[in-house]
Amino acid sequence: MQNKYAFFNNRIVPIEEATVSIMTHALNYGTGAFGGLRGYWNADKEELFVFRPQQHFERVLYSAKMLMIDLPYSVSDLVNILLTLLQKEGYQQDCYIRPLVYKSQPLIGVRLNDVEGTFSMFSVPFGRYVDAEEGAKVAVSSWRRISDNSIPARGKFTGAYINSAFIKTEALLNGYDEALVLDQSGHISEGSAENVFIFRNGKAITPPVNSDILEGITRRTIIHLIREELGLEVEERPIDRTEFYVCDEAFFCGTGVQIAAITEVDRRPVGDGKMGPLVSELRDLYFNIVRGNNDKYINWLQPVYATTPEPIA
Ligand code: PMP
Repeated sequence: MQNKYAFFNNRIVPIEEATVSIMTHALNYGTGAFGGLRGYWNADKEELFVFRPQQHFERVLYSAKMLMIDLPYSVSDLVNILLTLLQKEGYQQDCYIRPLVYKSQPLIGVRLNDVEGTFSMFSVPFGRYVDAEEGAKVAVSSWRRISDNSIPARGKFTGAYINSAFIKTEALLNGYDEALVLDQSGHISEGSAENVFIFRNGKAITPPVNSDILEGITRRTIIHLIREELGLEVEERPIDRTEFYVCDEAFFCGTGVQIAAITEVDRRPVGDGKMGPLVSELRDLYFNIVRGNNDKYINWLQPVYATTPEPIA
């Protein structure tokens, strides 16, 4: 099953009609920002659940703010557009949703001020993002993460993903599944498109939000689950490369990757080289929650078919 529609120019249109000019500012200069959400199909409940859309749209809006794009939508307007789009698609399978805000004006001139922007959204059926979710082999990249004083990693900017693409390409061409990236100070920031955690001596550690990371929605979710459900401490502090060599367990998290165990770093085994008990427990917890099988966290999910959206103005 393929996607058929997009939200474009303030209405739902057939996907073939959602096209832009070659002169579009964002296409020329990378002046866009995007989001990435997942919808999980629960066959027993005959429902499609979108994970934490409010948080995702808040991030889309603050990325837009950094690009000086003032959208005429609130977070609840964006949820309403999302519901309208997904109901029209009618998926009965997992999907991925891509909101996109971008400088749409056909204009030559590198700047952010006084350039018009717009918002669009589409979705696609989706499965795994990283094949090796149960045991990713990674290397520390020879590329550095973009920094807040060049291209802020806090914004999910389209142009910034050239950095992620260099990182991921190098990893794949060298036979790895993913990479860890150092920030300008030489500490681990994150993966090419996912946040990272280690477990060491019964405590979880993850880089802080000022280590040039994207402020991940999954990261925030996992911090909560480790504290509240696993009953362990979470430290947000810079992580050295060699801490990955001596930690007990490590994992990536993100909307795309979900939770993926990291079992090898720089050809060295992490822990005993297999997915460990804490990552395994977190994965079970996470997958139950996102698919709508854990009532305690059901309010983190937006049901698609049980909700009647407002007409789009
Ligand atoms: N870091 C980067 C660079 C990413 O692209 C992503 C994916 N959006 C993440 C982290 C994870 O963020 P989230 O959990 O909000 O999907």
